[in-house]
Amino acid sequence: MNRRDFLKVAGSGALIATASSTVEARGNKEPLPNAVGMLYDSTLCIGCRACVYKCKEVNDMPSVVRDNEVQWDQAEELSGDTLNIIKAYKHGTGETKNSATDGFAFIKRNCMHCVDAGCVSVCPVSAMIKDPETGIVSHNPDACIGCRYCVAACPYNVPKYEYDEAFGQIQKCQLCNQKGVERISKGQNPGCVEVCPTGANIFGTREELLAEAKRRLAMTPGEEYSFPLERVGSTYTHRAKAAAYHPHIFGESEGGGTQVMVIAGMEHTKLGLPDLPERSYASMSETVQHSIYGGMLAPAGLLAGLLYFARRNTKHDDEGEGEA
Ligand code: SF4
Ligand code: SF4
Ligand code: SF4
Repeated sequence: MNRRDFLKVAGSGALIATASSTVEARGNKEPLPNAVGMLYDSTLCIGCRACVYKCKEVNDMPSVVRDNEVQWDQAEELSGDTLNIIKAYKHGTGETKNSATDGFAFIKRNCMHCVDAGCVSVCPVSAMIKDPETGIVSHNPDACIGCRYCVAACPYNVPKYEYDEAFGQIQKCQLCNQKGVERISKGQNPGCVEVCPTGANIFGTREELLAEAKRRLAMTPGEEYSFPLERVGSTYTHRAKAAAYHPHIFGESEGGGTQVMVIAGMEHTKLGLPDLPERSYASMSETVQHSIYGGMLAPAGLLAGLLYFARRNTKHDDEGEGEA
């Protein structure tokens, strides 16, 4: 376990579990039968960042601009204003696409919509919710008490707190299905998927996406194939030569599995994705919560309740002052 993993597990209480022989572990949660997500294929991504712009438009978030003379978004990391980012890998001369040596590649980062989500597991007031039908992990700002446990418990460093806001909130990708957006429930595709010109980012059920990822991994490098645009099985396709894929689907099993999965032309760790065990952090942390600290749940719940009401009342006071 490296330092970062150690802090994540310790943050969610699991370190104590590993030190106790009396603790009974729960296993990983299984994927929901109708779980939906996205497949990102780094080999097809051209780094155009149309997905970044569309994500901002759909979620009504401002561009991050560092140089006033430049008009386009320059966000380099996920933040309270950026839920989706394209990052680049470069090595040596950086000449060959998808090559780890003297090459380059792109990686899209956003919430992975984990099968057994750490952020959901640690939230003391159920402000992080996993939809029981689609498995989409969303955030309820009205319930959130701002404790930021979800930030500490996410192995992908996804939830971001709006530190520069007086009453900051947690922000993260909600697969374009939160209150006011609701693209998935209306039968639309996520914004970032809708604009991707190459089929590098597609929507579907987790099962469909896994099958499509396996189809791509079985392709012969250099031969031309059709890649569906927007959604698995779409008749709109992009023709391209298959790359030499690294034979692994990131998210099929990492950290208990994810509903957003990644395939690439090189090892995923080179693209900044973490090297996770198959056991979810949530399964480890809940082992502790439900056994060793079982007796502390009541006072912890009371504290969470007090924080919630204090925060809600403060917000109401503030809203009232603004209207006067
Ligand atoms: S990636 Fe992080 S924020 Fe997203 S569901 Fe998983 S634990 Fe939660
Ligand atoms: S699914 Fe929606 S919120 Fe998530 S990265 Fe794509 S556009 Fe952004
Ligand atoms: S829109 Fe598609 S090709 Fe363009 S950067 Fe995003 S994932 Fe890559």
